[in-house]
Amino acid sequence: MARTLFKKIWDLHEVRKLPNGQSQLYVGLHLVHEVTSPQAFDELNARGWKVRAPERTFATVDHIVPTRAQARPFADAMAETMTAALERNCGEHGIPLFDLASGRQGIVHVIGPELGLTQPGMTIACGDSHTSTHGAFGALAFGIGTSQVRDVLASQCLAMSPLKVRRIRVDGVLSPGVYAKDVILTIIGRLGVHAGTGYAYEYAGDAIARMSMEERMTVCNMSIEGGARIGYVNPDETTFAYLRGRPHAPQDEAFDRAVAWWRTLASDANALFDDEVVIDAAAIAPTVTWGINPGQSIGVDARLPVPAARPHAERASLVEALEFMGFDAGQPVAGTRIDVAFIGSCTNGRLSDLREAAELVRGQHVSKHVRAIVVPGSQAVARAAEAAGLDEVFRGAGFDWRGAGCSMCLAMNNDRLTGREVCASSSNRNFKGRQGSPTGRTLLMSPAMVAAAAVAGEVVDIRSWAAAEAR
Ligand code: SF4
Repeated sequence: MARTLFKKIWDLHEVRKLPNGQSQLYVGLHLVHEVTSPQAFDELNARGWKVRAPERTFATVDHIVPTRAQARPFADAMAETMTAALERNCGEHGIPLFDLASGRQGIVHVIGPELGLTQPGMTIACGDSHTSTHGAFGALAFGIGTSQVRDVLASQCLAMSPLKVRRIRVDGVLSPGVYAKDVILTIIGRLGVHAGTGYAYEYAGDAIARMSMEERMTVCNMSIEGGARIGYVNPDETTFAYLRGRPHAPQDEAFDRAVAWWRTLASDANALFDDEVVIDAAAIAPTVTWGINPGQSIGVDARLPVPAARPHAERASLVEALEFMGFDAGQPVAGTRIDVAFIGSCTNGRLSDLREAAELVRGQHVSKHVRAIVVPGSQAVARAAEAAGLDEVFRGAGFDWRGAGCSMCLAMNNDRLTGREVCASSSNRNFKGRQGSPTGRTLLMSPAMVAAAAVAGEVVDIRSWAAAEAR
């Protein structure tokens, strides 16, 4: 019987059906970081249990790690305590830790792929919502909570309910100035932030097929923001080419054998889906969020919604968002003054993101009233960017060039908004308080759009702005 990739991988990893209807799934790769693991390790240690599969468990520091002064002990006592706990736990349980001294540290969803740990056909778990990123490789990648981190550490298994599969086909060609971030913001804006509940999202269509792995990661990363439990792309030649030669990928003949198997994993041509949505790539504009969830977005050339003109059920949330953001109904989003520009995160902190942003700021300067920072997603990304001279481009334009970490995506370290600041951000969440100030305001957009906003001092449409700047 024809099956989806989801069903194939699920069946391969199902240990048994549980009496409550869930499945006990074997976890092929467990990624661990400093913030959601201490309590899980404490519970393990209190029972005298060992980690079941330390060879399938890898750790890094990303969420709270400082991106400026990284000498130990960290000035932030909480960061130091959490990092020391992870070092101790990894040491006691034989888990490889990619720490600051390793040269391989970075955001967990950036280093997994770049080290070749993330591979097609895997089940992957990590105590972070955006674990869905790894689905770009044709894996089932679940973000889990701390109690599930404990379960996976102890048993290498997860209790999971089966999901329906919605195929989202993005057909056609993206316009210049439109990026993977605009694609996923448009999908979430179109379907809403709850439409994915109970679903896996399979991204397909020729626009997805043409994307690089980094672009596919951006799309899969934000699946969770659309309510989907996971998102994935069927593995193809782009996937295999990305993985070839990565340190933890199979090598030589083993790689060829792996590719032969990976090819069998894609959803069968006649597989049935529980739902299907088709998006016209050519109709997608550079997209900006204006509200307090990632579904509240519009094309940069559009105007904010007018609650009175929308269905009654939508009005209260629209009014709440407009009031929090201090925007007027129906105003254009272009021209919104920004105070901070943040380029980074597991959504858009990879080398291609930094390249695209650097092209926009080369020879320009950040607006006088804007504080702008670039935080590479990993030490490897930082090294590659520096080798290409991108750090000098950003510094020359007035950006702060930082060490790798999550930084202002969730502001657990000192990189945070203050007061009512407005931040143009390449990250993935615009919830109230997400960037460190309870009243701070976040506008999500592509890294190129953030870069242009930093220079212009306000939200601009890069399709016309870049051309105007060049004249
Ligand atoms: S960059 Fe943000 S979303 Fe990504 S892992 Fe870090 S905190 Fe989570």
